[in-house]
Amino acid sequence: MPATWKKLLLCETFVSLQGESTLQGLPMFFIRLSGCNLRCKWCDTRYAWQGGKEVSLGEIFAQWRGEGSLPWVEITGGEPLLQKGVYALMDLFLKEGVKVLLETNGSISLEKVPQEVLKIVDLKPPSSGMNQFIFWPNLAYLGPKDQVKFVLADRADYLWARDVLNRYSLTVYTQVLMSPVYNVLPPQDLARWILEDRLPVRFQLQLHKVLWGDRPGV
Ligand code: SF4
Repeated sequence: MPATWKKLLLCETFVSLQGESTLQGLPMFFIRLSGCNLRCKWCDTRYAWQGGKEVSLGEIFAQWRGEGSLPWVEITGGEPLLQKGVYALMDLFLKEGVKVLLETNGSISLEKVPQEVLKIVDLKPPSSGMNQFIFWPNLAYLGPKDQVKFVLADRADYLWARDVLNRYSLTVYTQVLMSPVYNVLPPQDLARWILEDRLPVRFQLQLHKVLWGDRPGV
């Protein structure tokens, strides 16, 4: 880990279209931090699990400027909340008037994440193998602009997600997204289940997969 909160282990930065939220399709500057505490079966960013280059906040900010100072920045990983410096990184962009979106795996407390940040929180289903690491108190930090994301691989995942949705009344206070694991669950199956059950959730395809396959950094 970097020695101070002013440094971060960076995997990569790139500009792409947002792939998995209600902001899907918007061009954004992505900051992918290195390191992850989970090992999901369907992980598509294994290259971010380890390694990374130690960089300063200023270097990341300069990269954002160099890429056109886009109005939206997405901070992702790996698991971005593992690094203490991520809070200073969020503050830096917020102070500049940049809108910040944080994508997190749902296993680490959201308590210190600034209110203004739009949080996209994965709830890992059973097929991921990481279901037991969900930090359920995080639901208390979610509001109307935030989003819970279920990426589902089979019918058992869907039934679990439907149960969670009902048990915690998720759609009453936050937004809920459901998408199929790319090339694993046929999208038509998930779409049909959602419609049959009249679930008030937003169905999505993983746009970055549809566009770029396994190359999220294009
Ligand atoms: S949390 Fe994300 S980066 Fe970590 S293993 Fe799971 S899918 Fe991969």
